[in-house]
Amino acid sequence: MVCPKCGKTFNTSVEFCDMCGHHFAAGSVPPAYTPPYPPTYSAPRPSHGMFGNMGNKIKALAKVVAWIGIIFSCLGGLSLIIQGMDYEISGLILGGFLIAGIGSLLSWISSFALYGFGQIVDNTDKLVNIAEEIKNKK
Ligand SMILES: [Zn+2]
Repeated sequence: MVCPKCGKTFNTSVEFCDMCGHHFAAGSVPPAYTPPYPPTYSAPRPSHGMFGNMGNKIKALAKVVAWIGIIFSCLGGLSLIIQGMDYEISGLILGGFLIAGIGSLLSWISSFALYGFGQIVDNTDKLVNIAEEIKNKK
């Protein structure tokens, strides 16, 4: 305990401060102010099972999903366009362009959503790490 009047630190519980005579048992003693620990960056902990570092995995997945979506949309659209040209069906050509364009756009947008989710998970994980570190210091 710390005397709020003079700042002397006591290892044991005392009733009176022997420096200034402050009465601890008076009840009006405010709890000693302890400055909050500055947020320290903690290196990523060794992964905790398959859910370790989930945020980064989701973010990596988002990039893969975006590229796969764009590539498949373009390939699918392209094959429709080629067929449409072969059989001279303008609807197929138009559909091919639509699939390539909209498919790419949709996979791009959905990867953004997934990436954002990964970022949230990542940040939550970091906050938990910091909180645990503070807890361990006390
Ligand atoms: Zn004192």
